[in-house]
Amino acid sequence: MLKYGLIGDPIDHSKSPQMQTAALKAAGINGEYRLLNQSGEALATIVARLRAENVAGFNVTTPFKQAIIPYLDGIDVVAETIAAVNTVVNVDGRWIGYSTDGPGFWQSLPTTTRKQKVALIGAGGAAKSLISACPANVELTVYNRESVNFNVYATQLKAIADLELQPLSQLTTDIANFDIVINATSVGLHDNVSVLAEAMLALLPTTALVVDLVYKHEQTAFLAAAVATGHATLGGLPMLVMQGALSFTLWHQQPANIEKMQQSLV
Ligand code: NAP
Repeated sequence: MLKYGLIGDPIDHSKSPQMQTAALKAAGINGEYRLLNQSGEALATIVARLRAENVAGFNVTTPFKQAIIPYLDGIDVVAETIAAVNTVVNVDGRWIGYSTDGPGFWQSLPTTTRKQKVALIGAGGAAKSLISACPANVELTVYNRESVNFNVYATQLKAIADLELQPLSQLTTDIANFDIVINATSVGLHDNVSVLAEAMLALLPTTALVVDLVYKHEQTAFLAAAVATGHATLGGLPMLVMQGALSFTLWHQQPANIEKMQQSLV
C-alpha cells in the first residue's frame, strides 16, 4: 500500500486526512494518508522515519514549510522563489518539493476573464504563495501592518513579483478601488477579531468579493463584517480543498475528485 500523509505541528485538527482519503477512495488507489508525526518531534527525526518508511509523498504545514527544504533532493521553481514547500513527491527515492497553496487559492475563486483589482492583506507565507501564482488578469496590491517585518517583506515582494509593499494604513484611502479583498493574515485564526473594521469594508464597492484564508466552519469576524456590509464572501475551505487536490495530482498523475473531497469536510 502506498503511504502518504502530513507533517506539521500542530496537526491534530487537520482536515487533510479525511480529504485525501476520500480522493484516494474515489480514484480506487490502494493507498493511505495519515498524520505522520507527533507534536514536539524534531523535523530531523520525522524525516529519518519517513525516509525509512519510503513514503510515496506528503504534505507539509506550519512550521516546517521552509525548514523541509534542506532535506529535499529537488525543488520546483515556484516553491524555491517563495522558499516554502507544502507538497513533497517521492520520485524513485528523490524527494521533490512543490507549493500548491497559491495555484489552489486562485482556482478556488469564481472564474472570470475580466481584469480584477485585488487587495491582499498580509505578506507572510500564505500571501507570498498567492503572489507567486497570481493570474495575468489580476492586478495585485499588497498591504501589511508596519511591523518589524515590514522591510523584510518589502524586499521579498520586490524579488518575487516586483511589487511595492504598502502599509496597511494606506488601504483606507485605496479600498474603494478593489474588486476583491483578501485576508492572508493570521488575524481571526485563534481569535474573533477582524483585520478590517466594518466601517472600512463599507467603503468597498457593493459588488466586491471579500475572502478570508482562515478556514473555520464558523464564520470569521472578517467575513461576518463583510456580510454586515452586504458583500459576497468566501472562506478558506475552498482553498484548502484545491491545494489538496493539486497535491493529489502531483502524487497520482490524475485529477482528484473535488466533489468527494468537499463532501468529506461536511
Ligand atoms: P505567517 O507566515 O505567520 O504570516 C502571518 C501574516 O499575518 C503576516 O503578514 C503578519 O504580519 C500578519 N499579522 C499577524 N498578526 C497581525 C495583526 N494583529 N494585524 C495585522 N497583521 C497581522 O502565516 P501564513 O502561513 O501566511 O498564514 C496566514 C493565514 O493563512 C493563517 O490564518 C493560515 O491559517 C491561513 N492559511 C490558509 C490556507 C488555506 O488552505 N485556506 C493555507 C495557508 C494558510 P506581521 O509579520 O507584520 O505580524
